[in-house]
Amino acid sequence: MSSVKETVLQINLAHLTHNFNYLKSKVNPNVKILAVVKASGYGSDASVIAKHLEKIGADYFAVAYVSEGITLRESGIKTPILVLHPQPVNFQKLIEYQLEPSLYSLRVLKTFIATATALDQKEYPVHIKFNTGLNRIGFWENDIDHIIENLNTTEAIKVVALLSHLAASEDASERDFTMQQINSFKKIANRMIDKLGYTPILHQSNTSGILNYPEAHFGMVRAGIGLYGYGNDTKYDAALKPVAGLKSVISQIHKLEPGASLGYNRAFIASEFTKTATIPIGHADGISRQYGNKKGFVTIHNKKAYVIGNVCMDMIMVDVTHIDCKEGDEVVIFDADSSAAIVAENSGTISYELLTAISPRVKRIVIDDN
Ligand SMILES: *Cc1c(COP(=O)(O)O)cnc(C)c1O
Repeated sequence: MSSVKETVLQINLAHLTHNFNYLKSKVNPNVKILAVVKASGYGSDASVIAKHLEKIGADYFAVAYVSEGITLRESGIKTPILVLHPQPVNFQKLIEYQLEPSLYSLRVLKTFIATATALDQKEYPVHIKFNTGLNRIGFWENDIDHIIENLNTTEAIKVVALLSHLAASEDASERDFTMQQINSFKKIANRMIDKLGYTPILHQSNTSGILNYPEAHFGMVRAGIGLYGYGNDTKYDAALKPVAGLKSVISQIHKLEPGASLGYNRAFIASEFTKTATIPIGHADGISRQYGNKKGFVTIHNKKAYVIGNVCMDMIMVDVTHIDCKEGDEVVIFDADSSAAIVAENSGTISYELLTAISPRVKRIVIDDN
């Protein structure tokens, strides 16, 4: 029998507490913990995750876009929220909801000053983002004079933090590069501190930076994937516990005679007698095409069952010839014992993509056995 009756994403708050405390134990007590809850809390539910983390002591939250910050405020989150990649078109809303922007270019800085001034703000908190090696969004060191010039024109905003982002903190072979990033951030921060005349919060580290680079902890660290129980990329960190478990049930079992085809475009043709299970989860739930045709697998009664044929919009079919199972039995797509990282890797992607693709159609169920 199955504990689930349909496709659900289980969110385990005890595991979230465990991971938060684990990451916290890796930094000095005076280092603030910023919890990254972008992309619906890496595919789970940002409000559920943030409310729990607020309760157990997160100092800051970060999201990618303004709309995500608004969702958190509307669910009652009071903790400061950093918006990592805001677009100027949303600055008015950003201020209305008391979100803190990461400012990454002169265009963005100038527009933000103009918006804050128009809305009569005084010392509105902002973070200034610098490139030190990821070079995705951010100012360069030689922008410092222009940044300061612009800051000196206004009292509408106040720099509360300086940040940068590590490009390869999970990759031991890039240690030299990462140390260069850390040193370059220190140099930039010192120049900024000198010109500002005070020391804002410095933050550069993501989850694997927390684990691998104590030198990069500074005043705050940004915990992302680690909070959700997955090590970076395909590496699964045994000290972390998966927060999200994606489960479903067997809707129907078919017995295919040799020669029978299965699914759209007849992508699977049984070469021998094949027992198949149809499962109510498909593209529209976040299972992409690449899991089809024996790339992806699910786990039924602790045994792997590979996806056969093409993934459909609402269903997948798996080969259960070798598994003693029946309709209504539980199907694990990933959970504590069958990691999303492994399922994803097998299909040529990474756990982030699998997790963040899970669509709103999949019911979220909170398990709270704290
Ligand atoms: C997503 C993100 C993080 C979190 O990264 P993890 O590797 O998931 O810990 C931190 N900082 C920035 C700027 C990000 O975009």
